[in-house]
Amino acid sequence: MKEISTKCLIIGSGPAGYTAAIYTSRANLNPILYRGIQPGGQLTTTTEIENFPGYPEGTTGPELMEDLSRQAERFGADLRDGIITSVDFSVRPLEATTDDGTLIKADTVIISTGATAKYLGLPDEEKYKGLGVSACATCDGFFYRGKRVAVVGGGDTACEEALYLSNLAAEVYLIVRKDHLRASKVMQRRVLDKANIKILFNTNTVGLYGEEFLEGAHLVEHKGHHTNERFYDLPLDGFFLAIGHQPNTEVFRPYIHLDDTGYIKTEGNTTITNIPGVFAAGDVADHRYRQAITAAGSGCKAALDAERYITEQE
Ligand code: NDP
Repeated sequence: MKEISTKCLIIGSGPAGYTAAIYTSRANLNPILYRGIQPGGQLTTTTEIENFPGYPEGTTGPELMEDLSRQAERFGADLRDGIITSVDFSVRPLEATTDDGTLIKADTVIISTGATAKYLGLPDEEKYKGLGVSACATCDGFFYRGKRVAVVGGGDTACEEALYLSNLAAEVYLIVRKDHLRASKVMQRRVLDKANIKILFNTNTVGLYGEEFLEGAHLVEHKGHHTNERFYDLPLDGFFLAIGHQPNTEVFRPYIHLDDTGYIKTEGNTTITNIPGVFAAGDVADHRYRQAITAAGSGCKAALDAERYITEQE
């Protein structure tokens, strides 16, 4: 088994991980960063980013992540492709094993594994995944030019996905289970102003149908209300999920304290977890803000916490 050692192992490559890598490499901790399943994180699947400070004209998710990655490399961060498949936080130094069998011994670990898009849990979603069902409009929207698609969800992500798709598809349906959108007012306005987006309020998806490819969704309006419950089929070419995210914490569960929804618990206003030397940054520990800039800010905090921890140990 190949073995490597580092003062700081960073797991995950979103804005939190890369910012932690910039700070820890400038502090001479010689960090090793494992990029994980989705190099660059969730932002690589978004389009325009208009609210990251320092980009007055806006930028794109992939460009922002490329900039952060190059900035981390400039100070000597060792960025590697690979996934951490198990950890042992009961030993010193802390240990992590990668998917190619490498054993990493680390004085500190910064967990920045982010969160992953949720699905409704319908068996049909699996059946039509890649055949009409997607959780990433910016990745797959291109295939639906001039077609009819639906986006599920009422938050900012759903509105963003619907807006993106409205520039490609002929018709976009936004399927919202409540009678209102949860998204910010500015996103709501943009969606409402789009002539080819139709919002289906009080509507749930109960199934999908189609021969080989997705051909439509079975919907129910006013689910459970006996007086006005209405079942109907909506013919569709594409069905996009945008109903929130699940934190990527399974591998740490045996050691790290998580909250009821699986997010890592941190101490007060810090990135300190229940295991000394292990810190958490970004969406993996934040279900409230979940922004690129807040993730980057907590990546900086994790790096400073790791640096302070090492100094204290010395
Ligand atoms: P949210 O948790 O904000 O919204 C999830 C949406 O999905 C809600 O409308 C929710 O409905 C709905 N939903 C959840 N589960 C189901 C289900 N089983 N069936 C049907 N609908 C369901 O997640 P987002 O990903 O939209 O946003 C996360 C965070 O990221 C937010 O803070 C958001 O502001 C931010 N964000 C900001 C952006 C920007 O500034 N440009 C872009 C994207 C995200 P209900 O309301 O009924 O609970």
